Amino acid sequence: MPDDYYELLGVSRDADARTLKKAYRKQAMQYHPDRNPGDAEAEERFKAISEAYEVLSDDQKRQIYDRYGKKGLENQGFSGFSDIGDIFSQFGDLFGDLFGGFGGGGRRRVSRGADLRMHMELTLADCLTGIEREVDIPRTVDCDTCDGSGAAEGSEPTTCQTCGGQGQVAVNRGFITMRTACPRCRGEGRVVANPCGACRGTGGKQISDRVKVRIPAGIDHGMKLRVSGKGQRSSNPGGPPGDLYVVITVSDHPRFERHGTELLGEVEIDMVQACLGDEVEFETLDGTETLHIEPGTQPGTLVKLRGKGLPSVERGRARRGDMHLRVVVQIPTALDSERRALLEAFRDAGSH
Ligand SMILES: [Zn+2]
Ligand SMILES: [Zn+2]
Repeated sequence: MPDDYYELLGVSRDADARTLKKAYRKQAMQYHPDRNPGDAEAEERFKAISEAYEVLSDDQKRQIYDRYGKKGLENQGFSGFSDIGDIFSQFGDLFGDLFGGFGGGGRRRVSRGADLRMHMELTLADCLTGIEREVDIPRTVDCDTCDGSGAAEGSEPTTCQTCGGQGQVAVNRGFITMRTACPRCRGEGRVVANPCGACRGTGGKQISDRVKVRIPAGIDHGMKLRVSGKGQRSSNPGGPPGDLYVVITVSDHPRFERHGTELLGEVEIDMVQACLGDEVEFETLDGTETLHIEPGTQPGTLVKLRGKGLPSVERGRARRGDMHLRVVVQIPTALDSERRALLEAFRDAGSH
């Protein structure tokens, strides 16, 4: 963890107030104790960045720090934060309603953005090797202008006065008191008095996002891949986006039928090859293999090509299933006179 306040926040030494706030918000979201329960390292970091922000966002303290460093601040009686609660009471507003209710009261739940779902069709060859494919996903992300807050430049959303930031209000229905979404802020817990012009206060924008989907070898029909964080944005500023789910369809192969990691197919030979045996070239999913046909091979015999099936997602590419080929013997449907005579001779020889 860097010792320097500017380095801690990842900003340059001449960063303005807006840049500082943005940098602090971003880091505070990442290291916030609510996001990292029980993680002492994250808590230390959260304290450190909060201290950095407290100093740099205060012109007087920043001047002292720039000239004399931390020693100078200590001489002025500044000691940073010892208690997380102090940070919340001082900077809680900066987090919008994401971690609302600091310093007492219930915390509002942070809602994730909605998940998205798409279908992807693959070939058997894709399943063999695994592939990477780029897809364009229409989804909402934070508005650049307001950084997702929905508030115009120079302003911040304010805590809704009607519900006190809870997003819910109590309504009396006869003798029952019910809690219902706050009508003023529609459950958001905050209101934007001065909406951002770019997003009209929604805080989001629609984009077509090019997403790289990594498909592992051995993927099978009906499997679902999750691309984390590529769903819709959360309506809570700083809240996590949803995920993208890619549902896999594997198109039928003209020659092979898949059963898990095993592939079933057929190999055609003629009756002479069946009788006398032969070496036959056979096209698998990944190259040509030589099949050894035994003399006297019967129709329907299964020939196994070891390791020429598919891998499984769990075991990886190294271990593959087998290919099982059923022998189909072709009987000629038309014979020229020469072959007919040969077969008749064969029959006559065999009948004695
Ligand atoms: Zn905006
Ligand atoms: Zn409200």
